[in-house]
Amino acid sequence: MADNLEGGCACGAVRYRLTSPPMFVHCCHCRNCQRQTGSAFVLNALIEADRVELLSGDTEMVAVPTDSGRPQKVYRCSSCKTAVWNVYGGFDKLRFVRVGTLDDPAALTPDVHIFVRSKLPWVTLPEGAPAFDAYYDSKTLWPLASLERRRAIFG
Ligand SMILES: [Zn+2]
Ligand SMILES: [Zn+2]
Repeated sequence: MADNLEGGCACGAVRYRLTSPPMFVHCCHCRNCQRQTGSAFVLNALIEADRVELLSGDTEMVAVPTDSGRPQKVYRCSSCKTAVWNVYGGFDKLRFVRVGTLDDPAALTPDVHIFVRSKLPWVTLPEGAPAFDAYYDSKTLWPLASLERRRAIFG
């Protein structure tokens, strides 16, 4: 997995760098993600907020309603409004960086497919890819090193 991945928004104002590989990568097929992106799924790289270095530009936060009832914070370029990362459940120390905004989105592949109950029927998952109807138990799926990193931010 690549170190120091960089990415940015559509207009180029926001540029960021991931100072380490993410802890885990979600491919989420839930209805919220489909609605927000206008697409079949979203790719999120889960990483500590302090490992996302903002190199240029400004982000603005939009609180978006979700089916769970808890708003999701979406951070967008303040100029072109491209969504670059999200925060769920008010856990600001954990960012969900949108993999499609990386300069090389192929650098990260999903570690798990979630909410496949609403996966679009024409999307075929790779053979053997971990996939769950809804959410999953991270303790059984995450590498130990990633679990330790998560413990370090949540205590
Ligand atoms: Zn922009
Ligand atoms: Zn989702």
